[in-house]
Amino acid sequence: MSTPQPLRIAVQKKGRLLDESILLLKECGIKIDNGRDQLKAAARNFPIEVLYLRNSDIPQYIQDGVADIGIIGENTIIEKKKKVEIVKKLGFSKCRLSLATPKDAPYNGVKDLDGKRIATSYPVSLQLFLDRNNITADIHEISGSVEIAPNIGLADAICDLVSTGSTLFKNGLEEQDIVLKSEAVIAASPKIDNERREILDRLLFRVNAVLEARNKKYLLMNVPTQKVPRVIEILPGLKSPTVLELAEEGWSSVHTVINEDRFWDVIDELKKEEAEGILIIGIEKIIN
Ligand code: AMP
Repeated sequence: MSTPQPLRIAVQKKGRLLDESILLLKECGIKIDNGRDQLKAAARNFPIEVLYLRNSDIPQYIQDGVADIGIIGENTIIEKKKKVEIVKKLGFSKCRLSLATPKDAPYNGVKDLDGKRIATSYPVSLQLFLDRNNITADIHEISGSVEIAPNIGLADAICDLVSTGSTLFKNGLEEQDIVLKSEAVIAASPKIDNERREILDRLLFRVNAVLEARNKKYLLMNVPTQKVPRVIEILPGLKSPTVLELAEEGWSSVHTVINEDRFWDVIDELKKEEAEGILIIGIEKIIN
């Protein structure tokens, strides 16, 4: 029997997505013999090979089938106009491509950009947006530090990636319209063969288990037995909690899985119902 060909996954060689991409593979139990200077590395315990590539080249490698899949920002796929299949949104590197103008310049909507100069590193995505809105503008493509363009008189507006908005703020710019929203995704090649598609399915099974568990906590607490029905009412989204009798008469232990951010909303109410010994435990994986 021939050994199966490994699934080749492209990740950023350096950049914002790299650390989260490698962490995700690690949380999926995949051990990579990593040498940062290497172009590729094999995994020890899963049929996968990691290719470290330049961010902007990844969509092309995936489209051509040189890589079977890749972890890449959705916006890069759009910008590079590549035909790849988005198989999973990963929930990190969330950002938006936005239009921004100087804070003190009047702005009453995208129509105001007609005939104006817009600086960007994402000319394709911007042009698609302008076309959709029937606007003709002069796009100045620059490769970095786009946010200083209005200050130095190069452009009237910019179109750039924003996550917190602090870079815009520091440069006296105001976010006006969102061109597109983006996050890191797993994209697959149209040329992926059946053997590797099977490996991809196994990988996606693990990725789903990891992503499902992020932000979820296992919650345990002791509650006077007579308060259990009320506590169940308070806990959001609770379908079927585990309720166990404690050795101490009149007390029960309630266990459930909860979204961590929602937990903080109900903590005071739980305490009012005399819940005590509250434990919040991280979950590694959830298999549904
Ligand atoms: P890099 O190679 O570090 O420039 O990574 C660029 C990719 O990171 C972009 O194509 C986006 O998908 C993603 N990203 C997420 N947030 C931001 C941000 N605030 N600025 C730039 N890129 C971002």
